[in-house]
Amino acid sequence: DDAGVPGRVRVAVRLRPRNAEESVADADFADCVELQPELKRLKLRKNNWDTDTYEFDEVLTEFASQKRVYEVVAKPVVEGVLDGYNGTIMAYGQTGTGKTYTLGRLGEEDTANRGIMVRAMEDILAEVTPERDSVSVSYLQLYMESLQDLLDPTNDNISIIEDHKSGDVSLPGATLVEIRDQQSCLELLRLGEAHRHAANTKLNTESSRSHALLMVHVKRSVKGREPAHPSENGNNMNMAKSLRPPLVRKGKLVVVDLAGSERIDKSGNETGSKKLPPFVNCLFDDDPTVRLFTCEKASSLVSPENLTLFLLYYLSGNEGHTREEAKSINLSLSALGKCINALAENSAHVPVRDSKLTRLLRDSFGGTARTSLVITIGPSPRHRGETASTIMFGQRAM
Ligand code: ADP
Ligand code: MG
Repeated sequence: DDAGVPGRVRVAVRLRPRNAEESVADADFADCVELQPELKRLKLRKNNWDTDTYEFDEVLTEFASQKRVYEVVAKPVVEGVLDGYNGTIMAYGQTGTGKTYTLGRLGEEDTANRGIMVRAMEDILAEVTPERDSVSVSYLQLYMESLQDLLDPTNDNISIIEDHKSGDVSLPGATLVEIRDQQSCLELLRLGEAHRHAANTKLNTESSRSHALLMVHVKRSVKGREPAHPSENGNNMNMAKSLRPPLVRKGKLVVVDLAGSERIDKSGNETGSKKLPPFVNCLFDDDPTVRLFTCEKASSLVSPENLTLFLLYYLSGNEGHTREEAKSINLSLSALGKCINALAENSAHVPVRDSKLTRLLRDSFGGTARTSLVITIGPSPRHRGETASTIMFGQRAM
């Protein structure tokens, strides 16, 4: 198994269960995907007789527990961070497919459903020794290329400093809180979530339009051991073991809840969920063959005139100028995609400068860093187009 091998992005796909609305509205339709977790394969329906097959590092069905998701997606990265390597865990997908559920769920009432952030902090806190080591956290939101401090909403003074020699990224100005126990960590995450909600209400936007980044700095003293890693200080190979000063290992974990990947039309609506005329209640997005199949199926209910009307309605207004938000999301997600592709292709040039998101992540992927990407998808045939594009994003990262 190559879990946690640096320099390569591990990609898992996670399917969320049907929600109540989908269970009713799509009752007559099959899911747009079929998962074969033991083969690590996913089949995407092209139409009612044909599928495309994709392979991933992990395929997580709607029955995968939060614990299992943590173990396959996050644990190898967290272990690397404890050993002094940087790491990134990202969730990419359409709004409503479970990115925040996977990463950010606090699960204070139902601990079995806690997400990756809480479990990672728990594993880190269990490994460190409070007297010698330190764990500190920043929590940020990136909206329209501007950074907001989720631990202090009055702070508008965060800058990104890149050390061009070491490649390290630091954020002077960002609130950094030292964490000693799981309780204070939960409080901090809850505070960050509340501030995110408040900031988005004030700006009249949604959290799906911004990226949330939790940054965890872990500093550990490792006494009297050979330096195992370049981040450890001191060139003290010749010193007697007892004379060696404690070595310091520094690792940084970044957990990124990305903005929704759906395309957004000029009115700010997701293009795949356009309000439908009453005579069509299920629609396959994007793929003309599938759309035809749907119309055929519905033809007993839909007159040819209505069908024409409907097609005109559906085909109009999906292009044109997108809003500034959509542009900004497209910019950062496509910059991220380019960087991940460059890593996958072992390219010498990773174009991190194209967006603030990738500048922030510069020292957290590539090199010795470990990167894990979970792409989240929903089962609904109505969102087949978005699901297909999420799957392609994941495939290009491998
Ligand atoms: P996103 O952050 O991608 O917009 P959310 O995490 O908010 O999506 O999930 C949307 C809804 O689906 C929420 O109500 C969430 O509780 C539910 N959900 C997501 N993933 C799962 C899952 N694996 N099991 C059960 N419910 C889920
Ligand atoms: Mg979310």
